[in-house]
Amino acid sequence: MLEPLNPHKQPFQPGEIALVGAGPGDPDLLTLQAFRFISQADVAVYDRLVSEEIMALLPTDCEKIYVGKKQADHKVPQERINEIIVEQAHLNKRVVRLKGGDPFVFGRGGEEALHALASGVSCHIVPGMTAASSCAAYAGIPLTHRQVSRACTLITGHVQSDGSLDLPWSALKDKQQTIVFYMGVKTLSIIVEQLKQAERSDDTPVALIQRGTTPNQKLVKGTLSNIVDLVAKHNIKPPTLIIIGDVVKTFEQASLANLGYLAANK
Ligand code: SAH
Repeated sequence: MLEPLNPHKQPFQPGEIALVGAGPGDPDLLTLQAFRFISQADVAVYDRLVSEEIMALLPTDCEKIYVGKKQADHKVPQERINEIIVEQAHLNKRVVRLKGGDPFVFGRGGEEALHALASGVSCHIVPGMTAASSCAAYAGIPLTHRQVSRACTLITGHVQSDGSLDLPWSALKDKQQTIVFYMGVKTLSIIVEQLKQAERSDDTPVALIQRGTTPNQKLVKGTLSNIVDLVAKHNIKPPTLIIIGDVVKTFEQASLANLGYLAANK
């Protein structure tokens, strides 16, 4: 049986696929391993969330196939993406499947890798900085913090096809647990209501980070009681990450001027 390749020091052969995590936007957050694979690509199959600066790192003669999608506006169905990467590999190309963040965190990388392997194509899995850790760092919010948060749950806020958001809400009630919602802006009001019903208090801090790590990063902070209004007021749109829990307040009393991310953005 074919297994995914651990890309550590493995050569990238023609006819192989590499699922490459491109990180959240800032090209500085690309790993050296991702860069190594990107520089060898014959063809890149890429998403909407991959930044222009990272696309510019592809070889000049690399073919580019866009398969990006917006929520509720799937330009290329997932099954077709699976086929495209395998078809390209069968043409004996080095196929880089470039994805925002990490391929295995809400990136459907698992589905693509399974399809590739089932088709007899070798597949490298190259991790990327996921939005949770990257946006948290750039917003000055630790995802865990001693005596404040002892767990962190990454969870999807994307609705099912019937419009419902069927999540294990009672498992999210622990005050010392940070909750990070991916794809949750559109369902924020449901999230807030459900968390209140799960006994999260009204004053639970909430942060939204839009286009985190990019020059257009926007940060909005509030609590469960006022965040829906704040998000409407500031016109927050996807891609946005939601962080919920007391960790959001960690640096409120500290001098943020001395945090590296702020210095770097001056
Ligand atoms: N594989 C990606 C996640 C893809 S799902 C990763 O590991 O990060 C898409 C969701 O990720 C978006 O709706 C948003 O919630 C989050 N996201 C990705 N990039 C982001 C960014 N730069 N800023 C804020 N949220 C981001």
